[in-house]
Amino acid sequence: MIILWSVLILAGLGILFGLGLAIAEKVFYVKEDTRVEDITKILPNANCGACGFAGCHAYAEAIVNGEAESCNMCKPGMKMNKAEEIRKYLDSHPNDDGTINPIKVK
Ligand code: SF4
Repeated sequence: MIILWSVLILAGLGILFGLGLAIAEKVFYVKEDTRVEDITKILPNANCGACGFAGCHAYAEAIVNGEAESCNMCKPGMKMNKAEEIRKYLDSHPNDDGTINPIKVK
């Protein structure tokens, strides 16, 4: 009888914690802008900081949020014409409201 109660209590706790995790996943869900990852992939990923940001991901975030002055701030990327590639990407992937961030290429 004690084994049955142990199994029932553990099963009940498992279900309870599972429900708690499912609810927490819904409540604390953070929507991520996939453009940040896409632009990070376009950048050289040297993470040198020459653009003035903490790394390529931070620079990509600034571009997407419209906080970067230009998409030509990546020194290693200049030689690879990454700014034009980023500009084209942003033109084809506008913000949720349909606007395109007015970021300069040069
Ligand atoms: S300059 Fe370019 S390679 Fe260096 S951290 Fe900035 S985006 Fe990355």
